[in-house]
Amino acid sequence: MFDRYQDFSQLSPCNPLHVYIHVPFCPRKCRFCIYYTIRQYSDYTINSYLQAVISDINRLALAHNLDSESSFLLTSIYFGGGSPNVLSASEIGILLDNLNLIGEFSADAEISMEAFPEPDLYRNLIDYKHNGVNRISIGVQDFNASVLAASRRPAVSRQDVKTLVDTCKNLDLQVNVDLILGLPTQTRSGFLGSLEQLLAIGPNHISIYRYISGPYSAAFRLRESEPFTKLERGELIETRIAAVGMLEHAGYHEYAADHFVQSVASQCMHELAEWRGEDVLGIGPGSQSFLINHLYRQMPNLKSYREHISDGAVSGFVALTNTDLCRRIALLGLTKLMSLNVDLLQLRFEDSAYSVLKDIGRLVGGGYLRRDGDEVRITASEYMPRVMFELSNFANPELRQKLIS
Ligand code: SF4
Repeated sequence: MFDRYQDFSQLSPCNPLHVYIHVPFCPRKCRFCIYYTIRQYSDYTINSYLQAVISDINRLALAHNLDSESSFLLTSIYFGGGSPNVLSASEIGILLDNLNLIGEFSADAEISMEAFPEPDLYRNLIDYKHNGVNRISIGVQDFNASVLAASRRPAVSRQDVKTLVDTCKNLDLQVNVDLILGLPTQTRSGFLGSLEQLLAIGPNHISIYRYISGPYSAAFRLRESEPFTKLERGELIETRIAAVGMLEHAGYHEYAADHFVQSVASQCMHELAEWRGEDVLGIGPGSQSFLINHLYRQMPNLKSYREHISDGAVSGFVALTNTDLCRRIALLGLTKLMSLNVDLLQLRFEDSAYSVLKDIGRLVGGGYLRRDGDEVRITASEYMPRVMFELSNFANPELRQKLIS
């Protein structure tokens, strides 16, 4: 049986470590949600979650025999969900204090927290900041109430989002706002109208995700019984091009696929680390870790997560060969970071890069990728699925499924 504590104990504290903490509480279940969430919770449930996460962190520190002389440099912490703002600022602070058992926060550590834009959230921002949070990511998705209703999300007021963004900026917190393109019933003009409103509000960072109805989402299960209108593929491409034009006109540039900032200081360190293939330790039910060459998923719900704190068992585990690692870095570079340095890839993986570089060469020859010096990029966004398919020839079919789904 794979033991995550044993695995963690092999990790060298010399490397920076990124931590993802999954906070599963969410008072609603959106139609498209693919994440593990708990809708009906009480103070008892929250307390039981906090105790489990704290025990998990303690076990990790014990497994590595960490002390102040040998501890990790924690470079980014990401509270994802769920809606982490269900936790109070002091509860977030307690989790961050416990992380000190496994590492020291770097001077510029990014401590990011996703939040649902509740009307009174802005009142709590100062307390989150005092407890260490320095970046807030707000899930707006669309400003159109009927589009949100079709996804079973409550309406979001433009004024509430503006107050939140302004408060973040006044407190010197980095602030991201997410929109989703392709939601049920969304139209081209409706989406671009939402983006226009968001640009007038002016967060530091904007993410535009594409709508997915994965096999675990309610949308997937309901699509037969509740058909809804959606933008067609051609309309999606055209709407995205128009959106990028508006973002650029407003001074934002795309530093990674679908992620836009006005300045380098607002780039999300945590997401960049994931896409560069750096070590990410996942904590909490349903979270995912990538450590050394192991990709694994924690137990899928709070009950099983608590039950397996003692033995470190996980619900899914993939060991990557060196060539698989090389493929993963190449794929993430091309599809997320939008460029890949092939010379560095060869230098790092040597012989294990051979088949990957051969596939890249074939894609360059076919016009799907273009090479400028050491850098390779996807020629046009419509070639993305082809590039992903060709490059995801992993030894492990489970990994292939994970990365291209
Ligand atoms: S708010 Fe986010 S985490 Fe909660 S159900 Fe909706 S998509 Fe899922």
